[in-house]
Amino acid sequence: MRHLILSFVIATSGCVSSQENKERQSAPDPIMADQQNPYYSRTDTAALNISNTEWKRILPDSVYAIAREAGTERAFTGKYWDFDGLGTYFCAVCGNALFKSDSKFGSSCGWPSFFEPLRANGVEYLPDASHGMERVEVRCGRCASHLGHVFDDGPPPTHKRFCMNSLVLDFEPEVAGADPRH
Ligand code: FE
Repeated sequence: MRHLILSFVIATSGCVSSQENKERQSAPDPIMADQQNPYYSRTDTAALNISNTEWKRILPDSVYAIAREAGTERAFTGKYWDFDGLGTYFCAVCGNALFKSDSKFGSSCGWPSFFEPLRANGVEYLPDASHGMERVEVRCGRCASHLGHVFDDGPPPTHKRFCMNSLVLDFEPEVAGADPRH
């Protein structure tokens, strides 16, 4: 399912709706520390092929429902939809760097929204015809977890709106001299 990579294509309506820990360079995320997620890494970009049975064992139920079952958190309920902190958003499932705060914009849709991913291959795109709509699903480029959808009604310069679920994002505040792009 994760093999079909699309450039930005169809977009219709608004947001309807979603190695080891020791290698991490920053303080452990509470979720990961509690759940002992051995696949979480902010430095290893190698693709993961982990069964949902295994993810079910590792992830909190709320994260699993979004990431592995393409669920959607309720609008205006996530911790990042109205959040302006400076830093980087990582995949909460695997630690893959996904978005920088400088691409985040205030959106009225109730989910954290970005106009571009941090790295072009940091995410992947799949057509999604569920719920009677033609949308483009956005998945993590490393672990293939569902993140949300992308629409064509975003602001310049890309005019894209990556409408994400807070539950699958893991925010790390900006640290001087640290940039995951280098
Ligand atoms: Fe991931």
